[in-house]
Amino acid sequence: MTSRALDQFLNENIAELKEHGLYNEIDPVQGANGPKITVEGRELINLSSNNYLGLATDDRLKKVAKEAVESHGVGSGAVRTINGTLDLHIELEEKLAAFKGTEAVISYQSGFNCNMAAISAVMDKNDAILSDELNHASIIDGCRLSKAKIIRVNHSDMNDLRQKAKEAVESGMYNKIMVITDGVFSMDGDIAKLPEIVEIAEEFDLITYVDDAHGSGVLGKGAGTVKHFGLQDKVDFQMGTLSKAIGVIGGYVAGKENLIDWLKVRSRPFLFSTAVSPADAKASTRAVELLMESTALNEKLWKNGNYLKEGLKHIGFDIGKSETPITPCIIGDENQSQKFSKRLYEEGVYAKAIVFPTVPKGTGRVRNMPTAAHTEKMLDEAIAVYEKVGKEMGLI
Ligand SMILES: *Cc1c(COP(=O)(O)O)cnc(C)c1O
Repeated sequence: MTSRALDQFLNENIAELKEHGLYNEIDPVQGANGPKITVEGRELINLSSNNYLGLATDDRLKKVAKEAVESHGVGSGAVRTINGTLDLHIELEEKLAAFKGTEAVISYQSGFNCNMAAISAVMDKNDAILSDELNHASIIDGCRLSKAKIIRVNHSDMNDLRQKAKEAVESGMYNKIMVITDGVFSMDGDIAKLPEIVEIAEEFDLITYVDDAHGSGVLGKGAGTVKHFGLQDKVDFQMGTLSKAIGVIGGYVAGKENLIDWLKVRSRPFLFSTAVSPADAKASTRAVELLMESTALNEKLWKNGNYLKEGLKHIGFDIGKSETPITPCIIGDENQSQKFSKRLYEEGVYAKAIVFPTVPKGTGRVRNMPTAAHTEKMLDEAIAVYEKVGKEMGLI
């Protein structure tokens, strides 16, 4: 017999989530995740993927991925430190280092994995981490895993950061202190105040860690938030993902040689989990090359982002304070947010509701992620649907 205690726990908690509109239904996409997707047999305008540059379905990437399957097979065969490090992984890391302008790069199987790996490889119970309250779940979990003291900092509040850094240093309790932040905050689309963060870090000798999952491919002509501010020499860890703008799967840390060397011998997902497949490595390398060769996709992303924002603002939606193509439509109430998303879906727009615990209670929203692959016609159609459903529900 299986556990009755487990059944009780699961049934009670799932029922409670459903009652509060917090239970997330998963809709499988039938086919590719492009600017239009098919769900339940219906074609919808897709405003929910992180495929910022449209690279997930790019023919140039598909071509090299197929070639890599032919030359290297479908799996890498081992963890990186045994014999799973293929020439394709080295090529990817060298290309990423050139792209980021750092001495070296280490790649991982995902961005999530990367944060679990890198934070706990350098921080321990005698250390402290100053962490923005809106940091991504993988940062929070990475910090917890390290056993360092986690000091929550009010979102992008530089006075609070300075004060808490000062207290931590003056307490004399910690060997090392890190400040960690998202480069771009994905729920609101605002950018971390990196110049000030770096200044405070220099004043108190803090280790700096920027998770640039939503900045890479988007800011700094594609090279990310750190490049956007020209701070390449002043940030210790530039973490990024290959799963969003790059369109494939994987994560990486860019930094100085000694840091990357250490992560290669001490970060556990690198040591104990199999490396990404040849096709993934090759497609990611090609994507980075494309970004280094041309900024056309990046420019198209920004053009589409601005177009969608203007359109939604014009018809009366609260689109928050985004500084990037990420375009939230803030509704507030969790159930209303879910209902709004459902109605958009029925009318042909796929834009997912995002509610607590992903965002704070009472700030439910539908988040739109325009990409370089959308056409103006698709965006016009989406805006028209927003107007119709927004009026129907009394939101505008
Ligand atoms: C998506 C995301 C990650 C995780 O990246 P994956 O490659 O999807 O695992 C990490 N950090 C932030 C800020 C993210 O948005």
